[in-house]
Amino acid sequence: MLDPPVRELLRHTRGLVLWLTGAGISAESGIPTFRGKEGYWRVGSQNYQPEEMATMRAFREMPDEIWAWYLYRRSVCRSAQPNAAHRALARAEQRAGDDFLLVTQNVDGLHVRAGNTLDRTYQIHGNIDFMRCSRECLEAPVSVPDAIDVRWEKGRPLGERERELLRCPSCGAAGRPHVLWFDESYDEPNFRFQSSIEAARLASLVIVVGTTGGTSLPMHIGTIAAQRGVPMLVVNPEPNPFSELVRRTGKGAFLPGTAGELVPLLVNALLSGEG
Ligand code: NAD
Repeated sequence: MLDPPVRELLRHTRGLVLWLTGAGISAESGIPTFRGKEGYWRVGSQNYQPEEMATMRAFREMPDEIWAWYLYRRSVCRSAQPNAAHRALARAEQRAGDDFLLVTQNVDGLHVRAGNTLDRTYQIHGNIDFMRCSRECLEAPVSVPDAIDVRWEKGRPLGERERELLRCPSCGAAGRPHVLWFDESYDEPNFRFQSSIEAARLASLVIVVGTTGGTSLPMHIGTIAAQRGVPMLVVNPEPNPFSELVRRTGKGAFLPGTAGELVPLLVNALLSGEG
């Protein structure tokens, strides 16, 4: 159950609601978060943390291993299904139209598979089902070729066949996963950077679900909301930098709990104030 002040806030919200989601919203679909125990990856005799693997530096040093890691994670994402929280957000967009915007850090594609549209879903860290040219010669990302196995077990190495399939279809240079790596910067064409900032400047309410706030754009969105005095609701089993912002501004609330349990309640309360 939501506390009465939170229900009231949602019922009386008018204008743009910006939802910001992270790996936590997909945890109940069985996709591990980066902070979970299964985060590391083994190459040879060494264990790597995601922060080391998800970098251009690692891709330059060991492209085959990085692709194998992404193909394994793609396989995990493909076998997962959207959960109650994803489905509730699809319903929220259907009803709210342009008053709805979703900024997601997730690369798993589950929001779009649940029914959210690409127009109102900014995948600010990319999508694991896509790749782009490592020399950036393509105007837009392309799908990882269908001929690549969707089932990719942990530890399976990349073969010559996959190496060829993962080349840029235009210039033949190495293709790379269409994700934003930790040692790279946001931009508008690939990651909707300016559009996300603009949305944070316009939103009437920001709802943050399942993220640690370890990356810069999401924290920037939270800070803009806090500076504007816009209320923020934070859904997470644990306190995080966003709940700290709420504590400081006194605007909004930290809602300790899981996405699957709380997001459908939030969407229902928002929609009950329609019209
Ligand atoms: P994170 O792994 O750093 O943090 C996950 C957060 O989710 C934590 O704060 C945790 O307390 C919370 N959480 C765990 N279970 C939850 C639940 N059931 N309901 C709500 N919250 C829950 O994830 P992040 O902040 O998104 O950042 C990590 C980076 O990793 C991002 O750049 C993202 O692109 C990438 N990533 C994506 C996926 C995915 O696409 N599903 C998975 C892992 C990592």
